[in-house]
Amino acid sequence: MDFQLTDEQQMIRQAARDFAQTELLSGVIARDESQSFPPELIQKMGNLGFLGMMVDPKYGGSGLDTLSYVLTMEELSKIDASASVIVSVNNSLVCWGLEAFGSEAQKEKYLSRLSTGDSLGAFCLSEPEAGSDATSQKTTAIEKGDHYILNGTKNWITNGNSADTYLVIAQTHPEKGHHGINVFIVEKGMEGFKIGPKENKLGIRGSDTHSLLFNDVKVPGENRIGEDGSGFRFAMKTLAGGRIGIAAQALGIAAGAYELAKKYAKERKSFGTEICNHQAIAFKLADMHTQIEAARYLVYKAAWDKDQGKNYDLSGAMAKLYASQVAMDTTVEAVQIHGGNGFVKDYHVERMMRDAKITQIYEGTNQIQRVVIGRKLLK
Ligand SMILES: Cc1cc2nc3c(=O)[nH]c(=O)nc-3n(C[C@H](O)[C@H](O)[C@H](O)COP(=O)(O)OP(=O)(O)OC[C@H]3O[C@@H](n4cnc5c(N)ncnc54)[C@H](O)[C@@H]3O)c2cc1C
Repeated sequence: MDFQLTDEQQMIRQAARDFAQTELLSGVIARDESQSFPPELIQKMGNLGFLGMMVDPKYGGSGLDTLSYVLTMEELSKIDASASVIVSVNNSLVCWGLEAFGSEAQKEKYLSRLSTGDSLGAFCLSEPEAGSDATSQKTTAIEKGDHYILNGTKNWITNGNSADTYLVIAQTHPEKGHHGINVFIVEKGMEGFKIGPKENKLGIRGSDTHSLLFNDVKVPGENRIGEDGSGFRFAMKTLAGGRIGIAAQALGIAAGAYELAKKYAKERKSFGTEICNHQAIAFKLADMHTQIEAARYLVYKAAWDKDQGKNYDLSGAMAKLYASQVAMDTTVEAVQIHGGNGFVKDYHVERMMRDAKITQIYEGTNQIQRVVIGRKLLK
């Protein structure tokens, strides 16, 4: 067992840390309030290689391992979880899915732009009546010779408006159930494709979340990814990897809140001493640190499994389940350690508490992670 990061991994972590400090920190409160994320910042993340981290360099990516991606997610999330979800969706759900399942022509056409920030991707699975139960797809893609006609609504789509390349899951053969599902590359601007209003959210407010409406959208047959009927497998395999990214996001939110709470506890005084000298506060910090370290090992292990070519369904689900709980618990305690200051925006921890909640919901709620883990254990 080797707990050392390579020189390259340490360098990438430092680059992400520097970017988060110099580019993300100063505007993070304003972006949360205005519910916006400037395209120039997305482009900067692309220029640094953060948007196609695991993509083969021949398609414009950085060609790095999953652990490097996780380290980047952790550092960005310490400062701004809205930035990191943009990175996570583009890397894990869009680029990875395209590279693993796409044709050579699809990779050449879309991956290099997606890897560099010239284009941004969105992953469109959830619907008004298909969230946890993703098999209940109502969006249809009916084959008409050389194209498909797409109809339906997708809900809660991250990068909903800022993206221009959408991977849309839809039912082609309802009689075959989930074996009839396909996934298509849909481009912004295709006739009949409309973007609904932005959701007004509790957390990750800098990230734009929209519903998408498809009304007789003509999608070329060559935009279907993989074999006919392989869309559900595509979605499940892609989400299994995506969970490692969200677990790293949760880990970063927790670690960021812990660092702020520790610093505050060493400065703030009550009853004539710094509050960290009260055992009640020191014990909180001890628990936070211990749980964050435990989450970190689960997340890194899941990334390692993926890099070793091992199955990561179980380790990824466990990492997300545990790290998201640690993110929620840690941020609540970080607010508490800040007292009244924790309740106002300037101290960041209230935003982190709001941001932490989504890590227990998207890419499979924590109840669904337990379903996945239970099935794996009892198989
Ligand atoms: C900010 C945000 C961004 C998102 N981004 C995307 C995106 O980019 N792309 C995308 O496709 N989706 C996205 N989603 C959707 C997200 O993945 C779903 O919200 C999530 O999977 C839950 O689905 P649901 O909201 O329909 O809840 P439901 O499935 O209706 O679940 C409601 C409750 O019931 C529980 N439950 C459901 N089934 C079971 C069961 N079998 N056993 C035990 N408990 C169960 C759930 O855990 C939950 O607590 C996003 C959501 C949000 C809020």
